[in-house]
Amino acid sequence: MKYDSVIINGKIVMPDKVFEGELAIKNGKVAAIGKKFSTETEQVIDAEGQFILPGMVDAHVHINEPGRSDWEDYHTGSQALAAGGTTSMVVMPLNALPARTTASEFNRHRAIAEGKSYIDFALYGGLVPGNLDEIPKLAAAGAAGYKAFMATTGTDIPGDFKNVDDYELYRGMQAIQKTGLRLSLHAENPVLTDRFAEEKIANHRTKIQDYIDSRPPMVEVEAVLRALYFAKMTGCKLHFVHLSTGEAVEKVQEAQAQGQDVTCETCVHYLTLDTDDFQNIGPLAKCSPVLRTKDVQAQLWKKVQEGALNAVTSDHSPAPASMKANPNDNIFDVWGGISGAQNNVDLFYDVAVKSKRLTILQFVQLIAAGPADLFGLKSKGSLEVGKDADIIFLDPNQNYTLSNDDLYYKNKFSAYEGFEIHDRITRTILRGKTIFTLKNGFTTEADGKFLLNQKVKGETAHANNTDTKQTIHN
Ligand SMILES: [Zn+2]
Repeated sequence: MKYDSVIINGKIVMPDKVFEGELAIKNGKVAAIGKKFSTETEQVIDAEGQFILPGMVDAHVHINEPGRSDWEDYHTGSQALAAGGTTSMVVMPLNALPARTTASEFNRHRAIAEGKSYIDFALYGGLVPGNLDEIPKLAAAGAAGYKAFMATTGTDIPGDFKNVDDYELYRGMQAIQKTGLRLSLHAENPVLTDRFAEEKIANHRTKIQDYIDSRPPMVEVEAVLRALYFAKMTGCKLHFVHLSTGEAVEKVQEAQAQGQDVTCETCVHYLTLDTDDFQNIGPLAKCSPVLRTKDVQAQLWKKVQEGALNAVTSDHSPAPASMKANPNDNIFDVWGGISGAQNNVDLFYDVAVKSKRLTILQFVQLIAAGPADLFGLKSKGSLEVGKDADIIFLDPNQNYTLSNDDLYYKNKFSAYEGFEIHDRITRTILRGKTIFTLKNGFTTEADGKFLLNQKVKGETAHANNTDTKQTIHN
């Protein structure tokens, strides 16, 4: 038989059009897209009129293994992502313990994920105070890019991820520039946010609104401007994670117009939830940057519609229930991070495509092609002949109310519990193999592969990586 399998009766969302036809798969790749291949295979998959999309590439995921596996591990986290329609993830270097800030930790984390992840994955390395010597080694080990915090983060626990100050950021950019990789930043001014929070706490003002007021849009915009200037001085390629304001996106656009290589993302929650939702949902919706008012959110949406953002991500940031509880009625004590990656695709489809803010082509650009391009995942991100057959089925006519029983997370709660969602992921295919169906759940073993950034300047950064086997998809 010519093909391993053929998907029929689907609306295939290609980069430039939606095509009603058939998609043939051979050796894990998209082998053909056209009218009639179903006689050339023994395995026909009937999509019954659903959308056939490229699997999401979630460029911002926190997995807490090793060290904090009770928060989320590679098994649970990757299953949640796969069930929600994500087939590749770029995993942040923090919230595991020790954090991934050395090449030896990088190799250890990679080996753990290789046995447990249900989806393909790339790994960030971290830039933290004191690890400049590790920057080139992380590149050689296969880091997709680097992450640093301008905002305050971390604990006093040895090995936990720490934010950089301006000096450490500047020196870090100089080192990272030499690798050709991109530095991703959490951009908020830590002096302002910390002092604003101190003021609130000193005055016994510890409600949700007080937390919102302690992280105003200006703390993000100022940090973005400062980082852009440092990047201009050092030539470092930048990416801003989870921008929450249209104003910050505009600063990125201005730098791009002046020739700087800078990109940015926002997250599903900044586009679906606002400050009123934070009040209603409570601590489960605490994150930083904080959720924004409807007005600020509208400006961000405008930027998304303009095509100014490279990706929409989850910033899936799980924690045990006890850390999201608020027994002392002090929101400042609650862990900041939204657990929500399982609903990346269906929720975002709802607010983007169903609500007619974006076309389905813009939608797949933001969840798949854009992030794949950002991190040089050349085999991922679109349904084209020769690319990996990472495919999801989205039923645009299936309504459901999200219940915690639906969740695959280690800690089965979500900021979105009880949400009425008007579409649903019914099948996830990774490199040609169905790994999840809504009907039967997971029926295969974990087979996620490590992905390299194939877009490094000069392509030399990984050249010395001989001690670890590499998975390169062309
Ligand atoms: Zn994050």
